[in-house]
Amino acid sequence: MPDPVLARALAARVLWCPVCRGLRGGVYHDSPVELAEVFEEEAGVVVMGALRCLACPARFPIVDGVAILLRDLAAWTRREERSLLGRDDLPGPLRDAFLLAWSDDEDPGWRREMLAIYARDPDPAAPPAPDDAPDGLAAALAAAAREGRAYLAARRRALAADLAPGAWAADLGCGVGASSLDLAAAGAGAGLGVLALDAAFAPLRALALLLRRGVIDVPRWRHGGDDFPSARVVREDARGAPVLPVVGDALDPPLGAGRLELVTAYGLLDNVANPVVLVRQAAAALRRPGGRLALSTPFDWVSRCTPREERLLEPDPAAALDRLLAGGEPERAPGLRLALEHARDDVPWVLRRHRRSAHAFLCRYVEARALGPDEPAAGPDAPAP
Ligand SMILES: [Zn+2]
Repeated sequence: MPDPVLARALAARVLWCPVCRGLRGGVYHDSPVELAEVFEEEAGVVVMGALRCLACPARFPIVDGVAILLRDLAAWTRREERSLLGRDDLPGPLRDAFLLAWSDDEDPGWRREMLAIYARDPDPAAPPAPDDAPDGLAAALAAAAREGRAYLAARRRALAADLAPGAWAADLGCGVGASSLDLAAAGAGAGLGVLALDAAFAPLRALALLLRRGVIDVPRWRHGGDDFPSARVVREDARGAPVLPVVGDALDPPLGAGRLELVTAYGLLDNVANPVVLVRQAAAALRRPGGRLALSTPFDWVSRCTPREERLLEPDPAAALDRLLAGGEPERAPGLRLALEHARDDVPWVLRRHRRSAHAFLCRYVEARALGPDEPAAGPDAPAP
């Protein structure tokens, strides 16, 4: 197979069928996926193709360089139809004219807004915006954004420091994959491969283009009421990076058990229906013992994502998350037992909407290591509560 990153992922059997999970006719089989068909390639990458499960008849499309591995493809397709089928071969002004026909609050407008916000992340020219004031609130926000990024980048380098050659990581809720690219660069010495997993197609499609071409055109919101002219993001270093964009459900991920050295989930915990299931699934994907999980979250719970009864709340969210990871919730998370290794509170995370608007969060960041069956849960290095 010409596609080296996909070939490596399939050989490492890190991607597993989310439909059967190996259970067929009441008997467990191995259920990794393999390449079934290639319809189109570009730059040595499968752009259009299909994967199939080795254990059951399920097939999974590869569209625009993004592998779509879902249990319920129909439900996802209904939600993502406009991203999936939206053509991008119209000349820019024509495409803009059609996009502007939607109101800001309708689905295409909202999705374009999200892409505009998250697509600032991999763009070295975007933060801070060139027209930012040199002092005052804009400068403070830019400084906070840099501090948060630098901290997470340093932690990624620390996590990737002693990986075995050929290791794999998953970056859950990766968006356009700035953190996935950074993780792959941090683990380049060991040839770390990264599964960049998200539920939304448009940001993964942008990531796949960046991986093939090193350049993408994305909407860029300049100011409130503005209508998103295109901005060009150039990341030559992304070309050929060992990152595989995957559409998947983080609560039902297409991952084999115990096969990953690292799982990261930045800003995802408070964006899922069940944060306990997210942590359990992430932990189940880790090699045991020794695989590491890194989470950051501002605990910005909202009902459209997380029902009240599923949130981590007591005695405070950070303590509740630590307790969950350490195995202190055996009824909600049976079998979950990780050693907390590193934590920091109030890590800044700034999402720039446009020049005059930003969302600033303070995140809890925590790293935990999968334990062997006989290891004590709390070692001497566990962080103080
Ligand atoms: Zn299957």
